[in-house]
Amino acid sequence: MSATTTAKAEILIVEDEPEIAELIEFHAQREGMIARTCHSGRLALEAIRKQIPDLIVLDLMLPDLGGLEVCRRLKQAEETRNIPIVMVTAKGEESDIVAGLELGADDYVTKPFSPRVLMARLKGVLRRNTEELPREDGNRVVLLGGSLVIDADRHETLVDGNKIDLTLTEFGILQYLATRKGFVRTRDQIIASVHGKHTVLSNRTVDVHVTALRRKLLRHGECVETVRGVGYRFADARADEA
Ligand code: CA
Repeated sequence: MSATTTAKAEILIVEDEPEIAELIEFHAQREGMIARTCHSGRLALEAIRKQIPDLIVLDLMLPDLGGLEVCRRLKQAEETRNIPIVMVTAKGEESDIVAGLELGADDYVTKPFSPRVLMARLKGVLRRNTEELPREDGNRVVLLGGSLVIDADRHETLVDGNKIDLTLTEFGILQYLATRKGFVRTRDQIIASVHGKHTVLSNRTVDVHVTALRRKLLRHGECVETVRGVGYRFADARADEA
């Protein structure tokens, strides 16, 4: 796959419902991707071993080997660990989404999904795999047209050019989410990213820190979005967000 284009990316669809698999295939091909389908988890693992795809669209409810188990096995093996995974789940399966993200899946959509949203997710994941973050020099991350700057070296955050006062934990949470913008991360993932550095966090205290962080980010506060039942995401202003 070339560094900047998602066309010609080879995606593997793991989905036991033929109509849904065909729908995804159709739209992926229209985007210029090369799509194959496997109708079960075991067949998918075999196919992936033979040919490593650029991305896997993984249904979680599969007849033989569930999607979470497929994800776990892929993430355990050296050769398949780095293949991006977008999960497809039924509504109300938040605990599965959380489990999948913590196993290392990149993103998810819930059924019924709009093909447009799914394609946006696939392209987002493919892009993220090849693109660098909007960094200036060193560990400076520049977001939202320059109106939010996170400087990891100086531990400084600027909103509209003005320095704001974040605690170490708030800074850690912002940095973790903003450098993965557009991607939901669970509370446990957030805790793991800042844990031990300066504080002990629980699921509830994450919420308290996020609330404080939002207030301090002023007009950008709403960029730190709550995803019900799953976790938090730094919004990347995609118009097609579900
Ligand atoms: Ca299914």
